Amino acid sequence: MRAVLLGPPGAGKGTQADLIRTSLGVPHISTGDLLRTAVQNQTELGKQAKAFMDEGKLVPDELVIGLIRERLQSDAAAGFLLDGFPRNLAQGQTLAELLDENSVTLDHVVSLNVPVDELVKRMMGRGRSDDNEETIRARLDVYENETAPLCDFYRERGVLREIDGLGTPDEISQRVLAQVK
Ligand code: AMP
Repeated sequence: MRAVLLGPPGAGKGTQADLIRTSLGVPHISTGDLLRTAVQNQTELGKQAKAFMDEGKLVPDELVIGLIRERLQSDAAAGFLLDGFPRNLAQGQTLAELLDENSVTLDHVVSLNVPVDELVKRMMGRGRSDDNEETIRARLDVYENETAPLCDFYRERGVLREIDGLGTPDEISQRVLAQVK
């Protein structure tokens, strides 16, 4: 199974990925987690990505696409749950091309819908280093302007599954699993 978790920051993509990964039996790939690890380990990628992340901006496409390409050729060749990628239309198009090269397609794009005031509340309670008020606002703007257009992109392709992202993590994961099974 090849699926993408889409949704604004704070929608619960990481939490849902953790809850459903075992049921799905595919590797979970979070570009945010990969980038945070790179920053911690002070790799070349981490050094280049840090300033963008601290400001709540997207890291340049070529840096992130390199990470994804590598995984699609290795452990994610037979299936994956992507979390936080793609983040804009260019990344969506690149993903389509990478999959096309292998003659495969996406099965599901799960969009977690959560109202903005709830997103802010959740992020303020999370305590991640990029979760201060200014950065949260920047990331919500980035989502609206750059990521949300992917909903139409995937709706047109018939793979968008919209999920109500309000409720307990278990309630939401039941909804997600009902859509992707
Ligand atoms: P996340 O954990 O998905 O909220 O990502 C945290 C930060 O990592 C984002 O605010 C971006 O700076 C960066 N990031 C994660 N995924 C991507 C991506 N696909 N493209 C560009 N930047 C990304």
